[in-house]
Amino acid sequence: MAISDSLQAVKTRIAAACVACGRAPDAVRLLVVSKTFPAAAVREAYEAGARAFGENYVQEGLSKVDELVDLRGGIEWHLIGPLQSNKTRPVAEQFDWVHSVDRLKVAQRLSEQRPVGLPPLNICLQVNISGEASKSGLAPAEIAPLARQVAALPRLALRGLMAVPEPGPDALAQHQAMARLFDALKAEGLALDTLSLGMSADLEDAVRAGSTMVRVGSAIFGARA
Ligand SMILES: *Cc1c(COP(=O)(O)O)cnc(C)c1O
Repeated sequence: MAISDSLQAVKTRIAAACVACGRAPDAVRLLVVSKTFPAAAVREAYEAGARAFGENYVQEGLSKVDELVDLRGGIEWHLIGPLQSNKTRPVAEQFDWVHSVDRLKVAQRLSEQRPVGLPPLNICLQVNISGEASKSGLAPAEIAPLARQVAALPRLALRGLMAVPEPGPDALAQHQAMARLFDALKAEGLALDTLSLGMSADLEDAVRAGSTMVRVGSAIFGARA
């Protein structure tokens, strides 16, 4: 299927999932996950109307930002993969969002290194909602204290939370637990607007639970090698 067709099919899925649970059809943003796919595929998706792209690996993302510099003003680049504290500078300089912050040190460095001429770097904190040892992210109980500290840093805009629930019978419950955590932080007074939740296989569960941004790769670009 052409990228423009699969992109349209994913948008239709998202709108249908919204309507099925009584949400507005445009209540959920689509982040197109382009990891492992070349800059030419990003350009094709851009030409089909996509504007926000997610990358997992810092170096690969930076190469694409560079190759697509002619589109820079029209694209939002999101880092959704793990970030080591010694790799923060180019991310602070080149990306618009980081979804995978799970340590104060990384947030502090991003804040210090974000160029003053750019808008604040948008941040989500990553939650290990499945509790799997192999997954990145903080335990739910660790999120509120970090959220308060990150919200106080200059040059950053704390936007919300991100997670990768474990597929299986208990997936919807994990999505719902993320939504409760998100609502609890907002009830504390943090001005959050982004619950980054849902991928190709589970976006319907995520939308039903309250996701505001789904991150979709393989349903748009095909299976990764
Ligand atoms: C790869 C990836 C995605 C997209 O996954 P698909 O199943 O290809 O849609 C979303 N979020 C994160 C954090 C990822 O690493």
